[in-house]
Amino acid sequence: MKVIQNYIDGRFVPGKREFADINPANGTVIAHVSEVTEVQVDEAVNAARGALQGEWGRIGIRERAARLHRVADAIEKRFDCFLQAEIADTGKPVSLAAKLDIPRAAANFRVFADLIKMNGLEAFHTETPHGGNALNYAMLKPLGVIGIITPWNLPLLLLTWKVAPALACGNSVVVKPSEETPATAALLAEAMQDAGIPKGVYNVIHGFGPDSAGEFLTRHSGVNAITFTGESRTGAAIMKSVAPTVKPVSFELGGKNAAIVFADCEFDAAVNGLSDAVFLNTGQVCLCAERIYVERSIFDQFVEALKKKAENLNSGWPLDQETNLGPLISAQHREKVISYYKLATEERATLITGGGVPDFGDDRDNGFYIQPTIYTGLPESARCVKEEIFGPVCHIAPFDSDEEAVAMANDSKYGLAASIWTSNLKRGHRVARQMNVGITWVNCWFLRDLRTPFGGAGLSGIGREGGRHSLNFYSELNNICIQL
Ligand code: NAD
Repeated sequence: MKVIQNYIDGRFVPGKREFADINPANGTVIAHVSEVTEVQVDEAVNAARGALQGEWGRIGIRERAARLHRVADAIEKRFDCFLQAEIADTGKPVSLAAKLDIPRAAANFRVFADLIKMNGLEAFHTETPHGGNALNYAMLKPLGVIGIITPWNLPLLLLTWKVAPALACGNSVVVKPSEETPATAALLAEAMQDAGIPKGVYNVIHGFGPDSAGEFLTRHSGVNAITFTGESRTGAAIMKSVAPTVKPVSFELGGKNAAIVFADCEFDAAVNGLSDAVFLNTGQVCLCAERIYVERSIFDQFVEALKKKAENLNSGWPLDQETNLGPLISAQHREKVISYYKLATEERATLITGGGVPDFGDDRDNGFYIQPTIYTGLPESARCVKEEIFGPVCHIAPFDSDEEAVAMANDSKYGLAASIWTSNLKRGHRVARQMNVGITWVNCWFLRDLRTPFGGAGLSGIGREGGRHSLNFYSELNNICIQL
């Protein structure tokens, strides 16, 4: 059986022991993964440091950008390989991965290749009251070795979202993909080789979090910054781990995102948009809406329409073009989501649809499928309304005024995303500005421009990535003051 190895200093190398990579659609083992040792993490960090002293540290921005475009070309050339690997690891429907995950990986490299070329310097002509006359300009320099830790829900998309700007800024990277989805990070190593990225610039280490690859990387004194996407409590553990070596962190964490549907919305557009927002990727997108607030006059109609959408989803095999709801990532994650379905019953929710596990009568029963589920009737204090579930599930509650809707939407420790559905432009602007989140969509969801800031407030993260925000995070700023 195939073994997915670590990639250190331009070579694939085995680790100390292996763990299984499982296909969530039928529970079969598809590969074994080599868990990295602490000594090998040290080698990966040293290789990354060494690469900064070599060709990678000498080439200019123009050439760096050209090579990043070549990485994008190499991803596009291997599109089918990436697609098959991502689908086998995650169980996501081919219709989604072919449209979203793989194209976005290539786009991430192209966008940051172009942005770094266009990036200007901040400059001031300084005249002081006592005759000082100088030119100040701030130069972006590479930070050094970047540790990148990513989750399983959008493995290649989220990995390249960080690798591309880190390399665009001239850094080298050591990446730790999720133990659930190691395949595409390894394939990316091959694309890097094709594109002429020097050895040591891109390294991949496989393993788990605590006392394994993740922790070895975060506490390593040779790593200059950590960028992490994952659960909020993992972010807290990483903060502790980086503290002794005082590294900058960028955190994209969990969410419990709200949607507000006003009676004046375009009804069908809102239902279609929110069906995606709740069920896309089986609800395993940090931006998914798990709380929907609907103006009372259209509440029953909305609940009925979203129920129809949920019941029309097709939980087929991932490679079937008609499938639009895949399995959850793992048995363990399904246990977690089911525990919330049980809790919702204990909390006396009204079950509108779903609430259990489908019965297919074929091999999918060995996979980790779950029914798309809608609840109503819970108080705002219920745990199912407060905690991130990360499955194809939402709770819908009515509201009577703009103020009440805003207050309920903002009553969360998380602050990642919100969406607002209204035909009243003024209301759209007004309510959007009141949301305590990193991104608010009006009459759309998940529409992303990679030049815009992305990140969350509260438990949803620290900092922003995207566009110049990524360039700032992955660079050291050196202000130079020249006497004129
Ligand atoms: P997770 O936090 O369990 O794991 C993410 C990564 O961190 C994995 O590679 C894991 O091995 C590693 N890790 C775990 N413990 C660690 C430790 N102590 N030290 C270092 N590394 C450690 O998250 P997950 O279950 O893979 O992903 C789902 C979560 O990610 C959800 O909460 C979701 O909201 C969040 N997410 C956020 C965004 C965003 O942009 N805000 C995007 C996608 C997913």
